[in-house]
Amino acid sequence: GWLEGDAALITGGGSGIGRAVAERFLAEGASVTILGRDKKRLDEVVRDAADPSRIHAVVADVRDSGSLHLAVAEAVDRFGKLDTLVANAGVWDYQRQLTRLSGQELNTAFDEIFAVNVKGYVLAAEAAWRELVKTRGSIVMTLSNASFYVNGGGPLYTASKHACLGLMRELAYELAPKVRVNGVACGGMNTDLRGPQGLGLADRSISASFAKQGPDTPPPPIPLHDSSTDPRDFTGPYVLLASRAQSGPITGHAINVDGGIGVRGFAGAAGGDHL
Ligand code: NAD
Repeated sequence: GWLEGDAALITGGGSGIGRAVAERFLAEGASVTILGRDKKRLDEVVRDAADPSRIHAVVADVRDSGSLHLAVAEAVDRFGKLDTLVANAGVWDYQRQLTRLSGQELNTAFDEIFAVNVKGYVLAAEAAWRELVKTRGSIVMTLSNASFYVNGGGPLYTASKHACLGLMRELAYELAPKVRVNGVACGGMNTDLRGPQGLGLADRSISASFAKQGPDTPPPPIPLHDSSTDPRDFTGPYVLLASRAQSGPITGHAINVDGGIGVRGFAGAAGGDHL
């Protein structure tokens, strides 16, 4: 495997892309600590792991610095070191546009979305950097098409994911030369991504939006519209960026894994639809 002997900590590792990355890292030879707020889910991932001796779960909320410090300590205690932090836990805003939200709703939802999506990444990086310096390790952040383009969320989600892009670049500067910091900007994935509690969207799952797409639904406006939405198909770049051998000179960079949203033309999403 590409990550033989490495030890990783993954926030939001109980479901979605976090779980898929955890399972991929295990398959690549790493040991993995998954962190999340839902114990039942974390236990399920541990139970399903082919080699349970290489996976450990910690229940924590990424908004709580103390819990993140404890999680890092537990991960190091269990696996001896930390090579990679995957900052990943997040929530979506279900594309609630500015004009659909009251001032009070914006106020509440801003605090919740930025606390999980942005503060959760900074606090995890703060908790982990000392261990990452020791191993000359790296941070890989889950970014989004919404880190670059509009309408992948409403103003709150889009701003939060743009903020994560800036955070990734700033930390790449501040932690060089010992720790590399990169991002994987995922496009739409069929996961259990939830919304903010403050908008009553904590129980809504993005998977419902994917389920709605039937044979009569037009393809989404992305060039590779026949690409998968299975989070497992998005894990390759995480492995690449975590691997010292494969990306030793890469830092401060985001890999867009979004079906080519950035190359859309004006007339049609896929210029080669006639091919
Ligand atoms: P998901 O809900 O399946 O996974 C997120 C995990 O994070 C869940 O297990 C959840 O319980 C956990 N979590 C949420 N808030 C937490 C908190 N405060 N403390 C601890 N754990 C918490 O959804 P996902 O789509 O896999 O989301 C992972 C990341 O991917 C997010 O950063 C999201 O913004 C990003 N992303 C998702 C998509 C998509 O279409 N699903 C697209 C681009 C980027």
